[in-house]
Amino acid sequence: MHPGDPVRAELRRLREAHADALADMARAAAGAAADPERLRSARSEADRLAGELIALASRHQRRMEAVPEPVLVLDGDGRILEANPAACEFLRQPPEELLATPISRLLRPCPPGLPASEATERDAAPPRRARAVLRRGDGSDLAAELCWRSFAESGERRAIVVLREASPAPEPAANADRSRELALLDGLPLGVLVEDALGRVLHANASARELLGLGEQDPPSLDALLARGGLVDVEGRRLGREDLPSRIALARRAPVRGALLAVLDPDRGGRRWLQVSASPRLEDQGAGSPLVVSVIEDVTPLQRDRELFARAQRLARIAGFEWWPAADRVLCTPQWNEIFGIDLPAELRLEAFLARFAADDRPRLVEALAEALRRPSEIAIECRVSARDGRRCWVRLLLQAIRLGGEAAHLAGTAQDITEEKLREEDLRIRSDTDLLTGLLSREAILRAVHEQAANPLARIAVLHLDVDRFKLVNEVFGHEAGDRMLAAVGARLRAALGARAQIGRLTGDEFLIVLGDELARRAESIAELLVRAFDRPFRHGEQEIPLGVSIGLARYPDDASDVRELLTRADGAMHQAKRRGRKGWLAVSASLARELAERVTIESHLRRALELGELRLLYQPKVDLRTGRVTGAEALLRWHSPQLGTVAPDRFVPHAEASGEIVRIGRWVIDQACAQLAAWRRAGIALEQLAVNLSYRQLMDTRVADEVLRALFEQQLQGELLEVEITERILTEEVEDVRPVLQALRAAGVSIAIDDFGEGYSALDRLRRLPIQALKISHRFTAGVPHIAGDVAICQAIIGVARSLGLEVVAEGVENEAQRGFMQRQGVRLAQGFLFARPLAAEEFAQFYRERRAGG
Ligand code: C2E
Ligand code: CA
Ligand code: CA
Repeated sequence: MHPGDPVRAELRRLREAHADALADMARAAAGAAADPERLRSARSEADRLAGELIALASRHQRRMEAVPEPVLVLDGDGRILEANPAACEFLRQPPEELLATPISRLLRPCPPGLPASEATERDAAPPRRARAVLRRGDGSDLAAELCWRSFAESGERRAIVVLREASPAPEPAANADRSRELALLDGLPLGVLVEDALGRVLHANASARELLGLGEQDPPSLDALLARGGLVDVEGRRLGREDLPSRIALARRAPVRGALLAVLDPDRGGRRWLQVSASPRLEDQGAGSPLVVSVIEDVTPLQRDRELFARAQRLARIAGFEWWPAADRVLCTPQWNEIFGIDLPAELRLEAFLARFAADDRPRLVEALAEALRRPSEIAIECRVSARDGRRCWVRLLLQAIRLGGEAAHLAGTAQDITEEKLREEDLRIRSDTDLLTGLLSREAILRAVHEQAANPLARIAVLHLDVDRFKLVNEVFGHEAGDRMLAAVGARLRAALGARAQIGRLTGDEFLIVLGDELARRAESIAELLVRAFDRPFRHGEQEIPLGVSIGLARYPDDASDVRELLTRADGAMHQAKRRGRKGWLAVSASLARELAERVTIESHLRRALELGELRLLYQPKVDLRTGRVTGAEALLRWHSPQLGTVAPDRFVPHAEASGEIVRIGRWVIDQACAQLAAWRRAGIALEQLAVNLSYRQLMDTRVADEVLRALFEQQLQGELLEVEITERILTEEVEDVRPVLQALRAAGVSIAIDDFGEGYSALDRLRRLPIQALKISHRFTAGVPHIAGDVAICQAIIGVARSLGLEVVAEGVENEAQRGFMQRQGVRLAQGFLFARPLAAEEFAQFYRERRAGG
């Protein structure tokens, strides 16, 4: 059927002629001057034309009828002008129903451009095709293919449409149902795409068109989309036709599920993520070629979330896992490998999963997993995993049971990499555990170390409490910076002496604590001795040598203490006791030391009130001129008679009084008392050349002591020359710098200064020169050995030699017999005191002894 068909042209001519004849007829019949002849001929012409027209039309009709395809002729508005019987049958409508019906009412969608307008009178438009669902007269739907051409007829637009069932028919047997199904699919939010074996799209529902950006094109086709590279996979690779899930499904003859691909949207600059499942319909092969049905889901938000989540997980270094206890399955995300460098398969058994964790952490982890199943809230646990490269990673696991109907079905867990955090923590701990000055352990760290070692029920440990002797002096004399350097040197010397065997920490200032574990604890005494010896060599400060000694207290656990607190207190006590005993030595906590400590507490508490209670008095031991035998002077010696403690010798209580500082008050009393006695004796005619008073180093550390001595002399109206102060040799080596101005002040007032017990301590002869000293006293300990013990003889001779070369007086102490007296006299010693002449005497006894001696002199 062609628009330019001669039949149709003839029909048109006849129709027009017929119309003209009818018009003539009308004109002939009308009006007053009607011409019957003209009317008759017009009618016969009209009838003839009508007959011809009918004949031709019926011929045309027959032709139309003869065409086997359904054919419709439409007017310019798309209304049906003609429909052949095949069309009527195809559309299941009688012709009278069809005529004048707009075709759009039958089609869904109505293909755009039907009828076309671009046709001209001479040329019909090129044929066009479209698919649509036809709504038929009986209410059934049919997928149809339309082929039409537009043309113009007498200035009217026309279109001739051939209908065909969409081919190949997806389900030939049930076309009606199929097309209804397809129509239903349009309402679905899922895209549905039906392709044939050649990849031609047979159907795309509205969602599929929208998702794939196919628009209204008909038939829809993926060609353009593929040609512009609009489809990519997850890695961003352009997909070709053969990469499409539908093609893969067809090639495999098996469904493809959940393939992820993206449609690039160049207009919006984004991409739309689609999840596509494609199923081949091979059973349709008999009816034609096989089909593939693809279901397309827009997963853009999900994918975006997933990507964000994965990126966030990577950034936060988080991996995930699930544990299904009943099935003994652990499911792991790929991040384990990425983050921790451990190959965890996607699925494994719990035992294999646990094997990736440090053996030490496994029992804890198993417990945590079990606990997490019981608990409603999540559980956190930190464990270590070993990476492939041997690196240890720290993992924080968060475990949470997922419950289904009250039962904990499985456990969901995340694993976060906290290695850096742990390293930082560790670093911080090490730094806070380190004493910055010495590089040894900090106070906290060393105390923690004692607690840790003592926590072991089988532990036998020893602690050494070490204190640098006279360190305060270093700080005062050389400044704090030098002091700090010295402490660092002390730390280094301790470390060098002990090696890595022991833990060494600095407690405060110049106090150190050393913890000796089991094996070393047994040798604690020799280690203490070793440390004392390590300080024999002086330290250097620039050009200067500074001798620094240490005092060490040693205590053991559990032998000496029932807990760490007590252990540390006892070591500290032993250290102080060691200092009291003359420094530069060590002392272990022992039964005798415990007694000593107890005694100290008793003595100190009683001594505090001894002065007020009048329990103290002075005895006076005569000093005799060996040549004349005359009493030239005396030494004042302190006595304490306590109603509770009995008579306490000064050797027992003076060190305590020095340690507690009580000696300062007592010493002031001694000076006053001695001066008062001296004045009283002078008034009584006992004219001593000199009275000697012992001054403790503690008294001399206070510069006011010179003023006190001078005030006492002044109050008693005594010349300074009448007084001598005896100071111990300790002064020479220690607080020299402090003491010098005090001694100089005393000396300026005429007071003599003697070094007591010279030779017992350091020989610091150059210092001896720098102090204003008049006499050396030979200790009774050396006197005791002469003349028989060679060593003591040598010492006495040396002291006498030193005194002579420095122009100093010598006083021999402790002369008990004639042999000693003879020896001292032969050595040129002028003055002596001792039991040979007199014991220390009370003031009245002394006066009597003096008078007798004078008389006997
Ligand atoms: P020191 O200053 O060396 O006093 C001499 C000590 O030798 C005295 O002991 C005295 O009694 C003792 N002695 C005297 N002759 C002999 C002798 O022939 N043989 C023996 N073996 N010993 C003899 P004392 O009185 O027990 O005093 C002991 C120490 O107490 C004194 O030693 C002195 O360091 C200290 N001391 C005594 N009184 C005072 C005082 O008023 N102030 C201070 N700071 N210390 C004092
Ligand atoms: Ca003395
Ligand atoms: Ca002495």
